[in-house]
Amino acid sequence: MDFELTEAQAALRQMLREFALAEIAPHAQEFDRAEQFPLDIIRRLGELGVMGLPFPEACGGLGAGDLAMALAIEELARVDASVAITVAASVSLAGWPVFSFGTEAQRQRWLAPLARGETLGAFASTEPGCGSDVRGISTTARLADGAWTLNGTKAFITNAGTGLSAFTIVTALTGEQRGQREISTLIVPAGTPGFQPARPYRKIGWRASDTRELSFVECHVPEEALLGPRGAGVRQFLATLDGGRVGVAALSVGLAQGCLDLAREYALQRTAFGQSIAHYQAVQFKLADMATQVEAARLLAYRAAWRKEHSLPYTLEASMAKLFASEVAVKAADEALQIFGGYGYIEESPIARFYRDARILTIGEGTSEIQRTVIARQMGLPA
Ligand SMILES: Cc1cc2nc3c(=O)[nH]c(=O)nc-3n(C[C@H](O)[C@H](O)[C@H](O)COP(=O)(O)OP(=O)(O)OC[C@H]3O[C@@H](n4cnc5c(N)ncnc54)[C@H](O)[C@@H]3O)c2cc1C
Repeated sequence: MDFELTEAQAALRQMLREFALAEIAPHAQEFDRAEQFPLDIIRRLGELGVMGLPFPEACGGLGAGDLAMALAIEELARVDASVAITVAASVSLAGWPVFSFGTEAQRQRWLAPLARGETLGAFASTEPGCGSDVRGISTTARLADGAWTLNGTKAFITNAGTGLSAFTIVTALTGEQRGQREISTLIVPAGTPGFQPARPYRKIGWRASDTRELSFVECHVPEEALLGPRGAGVRQFLATLDGGRVGVAALSVGLAQGCLDLAREYALQRTAFGQSIAHYQAVQFKLADMATQVEAARLLAYRAAWRKEHSLPYTLEASMAKLFASEVAVKAADEALQIFGGYGYIEESPIARFYRDARILTIGEGTSEIQRTVIARQMGLPA
């Protein structure tokens, strides 16, 4: 894929590869074991400009584009998926909607510090009762006397409770339009009275990332907290998720590549029956299939990112990339663990973390079933 990367993109990828290996990889197992949010690493990535890669300089960013962002997420996920999802969620799910739908004042207040790496943002749509069914939410926001009052609960939200978390973008029911449920989007500052992030969930993977239930109890935000027009929530959500899916596709590629790297290295040094297991065709074919699938997933992910960067329609490409890359990542983690044999099943083995981290990829930001539904709709098949 190098043939399509500019010099600047290739240099960014190299810089982040070196940073990830030197500064993240040595700590990844420990952060995972301790379920500890990697605050200092996220700060360092912010200082390097990673959080502002796709945003223009006027918004605190570097204006490097969406393909550069995908490359960054891939390199981070190659060593640590928790770090990668923290960056991806803040940039794609929180920064991007403020950039795309926000007023200039909202961009300066919320996006610019995020893009400069000083803060993190979160995006809260999922609820205890619904995830895929985005129109099924029951969190409400009532407008009276110049303020919105939120009530409800959001589930599984990334980045809302870290030491850097500044705001959460929340979808809420704001009334009815022509008999239809009206859903709007609000920006809720961290620390607003009535906005309570619960303790982090204990997860089987992405253990160093911050995931919490959020409750809103008579939580007041000013009228100007509305993001974009009233009633535009579902449209905004779907557009935001298109970009989020490019990020998860890139994350999946990175994780799968990380599994391939580990499995190849292990196969070359592990001996059985008098020679390294890399001599056995059964092992070689696994590695060859993994390498081919990772490369195909990479091309899909880069293509979706490139289309986004060039303002071309990319809903179909993002769903295809997310569907394929996430399934490749789950398979790559499984095959890599198989190559590690019994050692792969032990927590201290590096592949165990990748195996656990991979499993969410076919679920978050739209399950594989939902991606197939999106693709079918884009193909003109009936709803
Ligand atoms: C670690 C983690 C981080 C997350 N971060 C965030 C976040 O930051 N913000 C946020 O808003 N959410 C977040 N989520 C939530 C995530 O996006 C949802 O879990 C996901 O969208 C699936 O929703 P659900 O869990 O409600 O499953 P459900 O929607 O209940 O689905 C359950 C099963 O039914 C299937 N299904 C549902 N509807 C259909 C259909 N029409 N056709 C066929 N099959 C169907 C699904 O594919 C799935 O297999 C996170 C989740 C996790 C675990």
